Amino acid sequence: MTESTLKGSCLCRAVKYEVTGQPKRFYHCHCSRCRKVTGTGHASNLFLQPAALKWLSGEEQIRLFKVPEAARFTNNFCAICGSRLPRQGKDSDVVMIPAGSLDDTAPIKPQARIFSGSRVSWSCIDGELPVYPELPPP
Ligand SMILES: [Zn+2]
Ligand SMILES: [Zn+2]
Repeated sequence: MTESTLKGSCLCRAVKYEVTGQPKRFYHCHCSRCRKVTGTGHASNLFLQPAALKWLSGEEQIRLFKVPEAARFTNNFCAICGSRLPRQGKDSDVVMIPAGSLDDTAPIKPQARIFSGSRVSWSCIDGELPVYPELPPP
C-alpha cells in the first residue's frame, strides 16, 4: 500500500487535520469503551504506520481524555462539538483515525471486527469480515 495523505475534520469544522502515512489496519471495534466513546455499536478506526498527524486548524479546541485504568485508551475530541479526532501516541509512529471524521475517502477497506466478545446484540454485523474475540494476532 502506498503512502496516503488524508484530510478530515470534526462536526463543527473548527478542527481540521491531515495525516500522511502508510494505511495499515482498519477495524470495527466492538469493545465497551469504543461503544461509550462513539455512542454507537462499534468504532471504525483506521491505523496508519509510519504516519504523521498535522493539525491544520483548531488545535486549541482539542481535549484529551484518558481512561484512568486503561493502558492506552484515550479519546481526542473537539471541545466545541464533541467529535472524536485522530490521535498519535507519544513517541509513536502510529496514527489512529476515527474513520467517520475523514473528509477524504478511506484508502483501504475494513479488515476485521475485533473485540466481538464485548459486542452487544443490536450492533451491526455481517458475515464478510473475520471476527476476533479480542485483538487479532499481530
Ligand atoms: Zn468541532
Ligand atoms: Zn474498542
